[in-house]
Amino acid sequence: MAIELKVYELKDYRADIHSDWCPGCGDFGILAAIQQALQRLQVPPHRVAVCSGIGCSGKTPHYIRAYGFHTLHGRVLPFATGLKLANHDLTVIAVGGDGDGYGIGAGYFINAGRRNVDLTYIVFNNEVYGLTKGQAAPTLAQGAKTKSMPEENVQQAINPIALAVGAGYTFVARGFALDVKHLGDLIARAITHRGSAFIDVLQTCPTYNDIHTKEWFLGLDRPGRQSRLYRLEETGFDPVVKNPDDPEEVRVKQLAAIAKSYEWGDRIPIGVFYQVSLPTLEDRLRAKGILGEVPLARTDPFRRDVTELIEALR
Ligand code: SF4
Repeated sequence: MAIELKVYELKDYRADIHSDWCPGCGDFGILAAIQQALQRLQVPPHRVAVCSGIGCSGKTPHYIRAYGFHTLHGRVLPFATGLKLANHDLTVIAVGGDGDGYGIGAGYFINAGRRNVDLTYIVFNNEVYGLTKGQAAPTLAQGAKTKSMPEENVQQAINPIALAVGAGYTFVARGFALDVKHLGDLIARAITHRGSAFIDVLQTCPTYNDIHTKEWFLGLDRPGRQSRLYRLEETGFDPVVKNPDDPEEVRVKQLAAIAKSYEWGDRIPIGVFYQVSLPTLEDRLRAKGILGEVPLARTDPFRRDVTELIEALR
């Protein structure tokens, strides 16, 4: 393997494309955090693939200098899974909104977790469908009414963190779009984690969500102006399973993560909720001889002897 001597700077991860996100959108913070994480880890841009679903967040790959794929609504995870299986040398990052991932893509969200594919999934959670003028997304609370809605929301909100733990994600975290340094740290940890890493990012949408604004998250609307957000790691909370073969420890850590995920309102935790080291889908396919050490993308399928396969299909 050739030794890569270049030291990558932040500008090496920035695409020269004008962004059309609204001024003040939290998406800018998430984009910067992804670029910072990649630069901190010194992942060469040509070894990164960023794919997205549909929504405002879907434009993220356009703004990152790496391989980029703007896929179908709700379908970013099957696409990212195929990408990783075809070329497991790539760092694969999937991004999407809460409507994209927890609404139309909910089935894929759950199944990507239980497969434990080695990829990072970042959800831009602003509680609305921003690209289509701010309808209620699956994370908006029942009874809430943003300025873009004619009526109160009549459906209950889902809890993405609890859902991810239950689905089998092996790294589960929450970040805040405007705390770029902290979010960058979380993304770097998610990328280095072997397995399905999920980060739900609380993202401000100043255009359509006038309930959970920057001022609300930072507590600027209340006496004392104390931020509603706090960092789990500063409270002694330990999310990491030390012995994955101990079902009791796994259960205790999962229950602690789920309990924390229901904290909302006056105090909202951000940070890592749960982490466990388990064989990935790629490991299991390799153990069965289905995947080799050389990525499929670097093999020549036309030179393989498929006689045996054809005979088996007769
Ligand atoms: Fe950002 Fe909301 Fe504008 Fe979309 S509609 S770009 S989420 S501020």
